[in-house]
Amino acid sequence: MRKTFLLPLILLIFLLSGCGSSSGKNSADVEQKPSSSNVETSVANFKSDLKITMLNVGQGDSFLIQTSTQNILIDTSDKDERQKLEYELNKAGVTVFDKIILTHPHADHIGGIELLLTDSKYTVKEVFDNGIASTSRLYINYMKSLKDRGIKHSTLTAGDVVDFGGDVKFEVLYPPKDLVNSVNDGNQKTDPNNESIVGRLHYKDFTMMFTGDAELKVESEIWADNDEKKLKSKILKAGHHGSRTSSSENFVRVVNPECVLISAGEPGIRGGNTYGHPHVESLQNYLDADIDSQNILWSWKNGTVTIETDGKNFSVTPEKKEDWVQAWIDNKKK
Ligand SMILES: [Zn+2]
Repeated sequence: MRKTFLLPLILLIFLLSGCGSSSGKNSADVEQKPSSSNVETSVANFKSDLKITMLNVGQGDSFLIQTSTQNILIDTSDKDERQKLEYELNKAGVTVFDKIILTHPHADHIGGIELLLTDSKYTVKEVFDNGIASTSRLYINYMKSLKDRGIKHSTLTAGDVVDFGGDVKFEVLYPPKDLVNSVNDGNQKTDPNNESIVGRLHYKDFTMMFTGDAELKVESEIWADNDEKKLKSKILKAGHHGSRTSSSENFVRVVNPECVLISAGEPGIRGGNTYGHPHVESLQNYLDADIDSQNILWSWKNGTVTIETDGKNFSVTPEKKEDWVQAWIDNKKK
């Protein structure tokens, strides 16, 4: 009796899931064996206490993390995508942010912070950035709003660990403190992408690598400076919107994700994704690392993507199920 009730539910979960893991299998393994009693039990008992959402915010990044005690946002997408950010947050029913992390001050990452700091429907308790100033108007307004509203402002560098509540931790891997000091002292100038806050979220056995727009140079520094075990992650947030400037073969291999999330907007739109993200080279590196194409999810193709985990099993559910990778590669190679 119990089994006949559970089966349709389980099939539904598989239909909705782009990727996920029960007992360490990827979804391709799981889908081929829907009648495995091991998988059924595991999925039936699955009770999520951490939810991570790749918000569908066009050309930019914004990830919402909901633990049992806190709401955290990593990046706020672009200024021109504010309506999308507002819509997505409304859909998630979140107006209070315990923490907001801004990976670096480019417009497609800090563009929405002004809205969150100034619109009275939102409450922001603390904002983190890498401590490197920018001369852009967006950045200056952001600093002014923080000060005017007396919002706590903290900086993050490699080695810091941020408590996201409910046993969820965010371990900062980049930038190193001496890089931040040297840029602030005017002794060094690097691309803001390569000053991005990179960090690994962990909750029990679940891990996710957040990369901002960090490029190949940073990926190899992180690889050189850390034990490979500290980098291995179930999910990889593709660096720099899936650009070929990031997602090196080595980094992808070491992180060894089961699933890759790419936040990038509609291709060819002026002021948006004119870069052709995600690039074929990055996609090829994911495929070469044995990541199933249906576990490579792009916000423009797959919409909002929701990850749920109990710290052991996890599911990744795209709003739209579309296996677009090979067609996109073939089209680009024409
Ligand atoms: Zn970016």
